[in-house]
Amino acid sequence: MAKICVIGSSSMDLVVTSAKRPGAGETVLGESFKTVPGGKGANQAVAAARLGAEVTMIGRVGDDHFGEQIITNFKQNGVSVSHVEPVTGMESGTAHIVLAEGDNSIVVVKAANDEVTPAYIDRAAQVIQTADIVMIQQEIPEETVVHVSELCAQYNVKLLLNPAPARPIPAQVIENAAYITPNEHEASIIFEGLSPQEALRQYPNKLFVTEGSNGVRYYNGEQEIVVPTYKVEAVDTTGAGDTFNAAFAVALAEGKTLQDSVRFANRAASISVTKFGAQGGMPSRQEVEAQL
Ligand code: ADP
Repeated sequence: MAKICVIGSSSMDLVVTSAKRPGAGETVLGESFKTVPGGKGANQAVAAARLGAEVTMIGRVGDDHFGEQIITNFKQNGVSVSHVEPVTGMESGTAHIVLAEGDNSIVVVKAANDEVTPAYIDRAAQVIQTADIVMIQQEIPEETVVHVSELCAQYNVKLLLNPAPARPIPAQVIENAAYITPNEHEASIIFEGLSPQEALRQYPNKLFVTEGSNGVRYYNGEQEIVVPTYKVEAVDTTGAGDTFNAAFAVALAEGKTLQDSVRFANRAASISVTKFGAQGGMPSRQEVEAQL
């Protein structure tokens, strides 16, 4: 079984649908409201567990009701929560989403996710040290990402960095990461000044750019490879990147080749876009294998 450690955010998404988006100072009546667990770290942990990995999440929640629900959701999906500690006197991370007029507006409050600090990570060093692969994203403090990358280098553990949301990445993190998986928009911010081709050539077999329905592009040291994704009826692409990253990590941890790992991840992500919701669409191992 692949041992995966995910270090990142967890949150509760509060989703409202409304015919009209309220303007400043305006109140409107909405149509529906629901809460769904989210956060890139949590999404990737849940996706990896559904794909059959042994997953430990390193993250933080508030000491509120959302925190309890987030932890319950991890448990229901088979993710180990021994390193998901509530922060006393603080709220859980939340995303406040209004779906209106065919588009969404989102306010994110990071709250407890800002407490995923280097000192907190050190208390889980053992989990990092014994993982086949460590996954991290950028919804936690940058100093933590830097610290984790140093630990992974020190322990000789492979680090998969999904650099979302986009922000410039310190050079040592790029150096320390084994795999980096931006989408096209994130790649243009992270590798500003380089053309997409130049960026790929600079990081052979390390940089994997996801291109939505076009699949994934990387450079294998000799040529650019495009691994096409699968044609599906896409209904909701939320969480496609999270599913892709989790599946990529699981396949790599199991020793699949780079190209086969991308193929497996494309299959998992393409299934995820055929269903609503981020975690709602994440497939089981059986679903992916049946369609490979
Ligand atoms: P993000 O969700 O982070 O913006 P992408 O849009 O690049 O990232 O999607 C990540 C992966 O999800 C793609 O590489 C692909 O495997 C899969 N995917 C996304 N959209 C589609 C789609 N419309 N059809 C099939 N696969 C898709």
